[in-house]
Amino acid sequence: MGIAKILIVDDRPENLLTLESLLDEPDIELVRATSGVEALGLTLDHDFALVLLDVQMPGMDGYEVAELMRGNKKTKHIPIIFITAAFRADAQVFKGYESGAVDYLFKPLDERVFKSKVGVFIELFRHKDALSKKTLELDRKLVELEELQQQLEETNEQLRLLSTTDGLTGLLNKREFETVFEKEWKRGIRTQSPLSLVMLDIDFFKAYNDTCGHAEGDDCLKKVAKAISDAARRHTDMVARVGGEEFAVLLPETEPEGAEHVAKRLLKAVYDLAIPHKRSTTSEFVTTSIGVATMVPDQGCIQRDLFEAADDGLYRAKEKGRNCWCIGTSILNVA
Ligand SMILES: [Mg+2]
Repeated sequence: MGIAKILIVDDRPENLLTLESLLDEPDIELVRATSGVEALGLTLDHDFALVLLDVQMPGMDGYEVAELMRGNKKTKHIPIIFITAAFRADAQVFKGYESGAVDYLFKPLDERVFKSKVGVFIELFRHKDALSKKTLELDRKLVELEELQQQLEETNEQLRLLSTTDGLTGLLNKREFETVFEKEWKRGIRTQSPLSLVMLDIDFFKAYNDTCGHAEGDDCLKKVAKAISDAARRHTDMVARVGGEEFAVLLPETEPEGAEHVAKRLLKAVYDLAIPHKRSTTSEFVTTSIGVATMVPDQGCIQRDLFEAADDGLYRAKEKGRNCWCIGTSILNVA
């Protein structure tokens, strides 16, 4: 429990001594003033729990001090106990309350009454003090809580990115691609619009890795991923890394002609990177083989059929000598 400061104001030193002896408690700190002017100055410098104010003083009397205290924002809520030698008179009490006094004590002071009244104000002060400390603490906790909330959201976002994207290239990972693919397939069944899939494979990538090392291999994968991503321009096009050197681009609501156009663009984009590839038998640069397939999803075929058709195109492109694209057909369509 903190120390409660009390201001005692009386023009007579002997009266101040009486108050001091009555208030001699370890948890009370006394500040003395012998005039109204001095008292006012002190109320601005300290945070008082209570002011014990002599009414009859030369110059500025206790009522004037109280009036002036009520007019100041810092001092208007400090409780005042007037101490007066005058006879108890209703008019006097009224005057005191009008200027904002909270209580009266009469000289000579009755020790028991005095201590009980002062005790009430000190308790009120301590209660108010504890409340304001609690409020401050709550405010601080609220700020902390908001910061934690923010951190949690950031962590969740990082977790989401980690679980849906490929760490090396930043493209969708295989698992997320399968989720997206399934969603688009179902949407295609509802809307009866064509869904196209383009599969890409970097030609002779194992040989590239063996010659240049894994660090350069990773660098090559990143460049190719970016080229593919840039070349698949629509925001609905979904680009994923689905294997070591294998990429997929899903094109919703895209006819075969549109998909072929994208395949051409992807083929050129990777070639234009002009990444030297000494062990490629197809080109001096890193190239891709691309398979393309389009289907209108319906209940009679499954998502897997479109995937197999694109994969079939990829196989044909490789057979044809790589660095090219081919349209694939699914086993279902052939049958
Ligand atoms: Mg006096």
